[in-house]
Amino acid sequence: MADVYIGLGSNLEDRGTGPAGQLDRALKTISEHPMINLMAVSQRYQTRAIGPENQPDYINAAARLDTDMSALDLLDYLQHIEHEQGRVRTIRWGARTLDLDILLYDRQTIKSERLTVPHPRMHERAFVLAPLSDLQPNMVLPNGENILNLLANCSDQGIVKL
Ligand code: ATP
Ligand code: MG
Ligand code: MG
Repeated sequence: MADVYIGLGSNLEDRGTGPAGQLDRALKTISEHPMINLMAVSQRYQTRAIGPENQPDYINAAARLDTDMSALDLLDYLQHIEHEQGRVRTIRWGARTLDLDILLYDRQTIKSERLTVPHPRMHERAFVLAPLSDLQPNMVLPNGENILNLLANCSDQGIVKL
């Protein structure tokens, strides 16, 4: 079994379901997959959007999974859920109904065309580090960085625990 952490985010509704409901829906779908055990879900956070201006705030969370799926099969499945929940890719970092990113897959370092793990921008994002610290406060990333130290460097990023 691989010990996996994923990041979830939404700042748009899809068919009448707002950002928090998008996260609920995604977590339910993930928990129903026969090869995935959903072990824990973090608190939720309201966070300011990165990237293009004038986007609604995000709701973000992180989850811990146990799975026998390969990292690429898991990415396929997460992208399938994004698509099912109305994700449309237009501009980079634009508003979206759902974003599901693989943050960590065991202690592995993966660099392929479709997948980079640990997620390459997680160490600079309060909206990733804060929910991860709910799940594992003393977590140390594969490169030796402590997530609480990293989070302390992100204190200027607007983030509110819900
Ligand atoms: P960011 O990566 O900065 O969080 P994003 O989540 O908005 O941006 P997406 O549009 O969701 O980016 O994904 C773009 C591509 O990133 C995907 O097609 C996917 O192949 C690739 N990708 C690389 N590494 C990962 C990862 N660890 N988790 C999810 N997608 C990844
Ligand atoms: Mg992302
Ligand atoms: Mg993504």
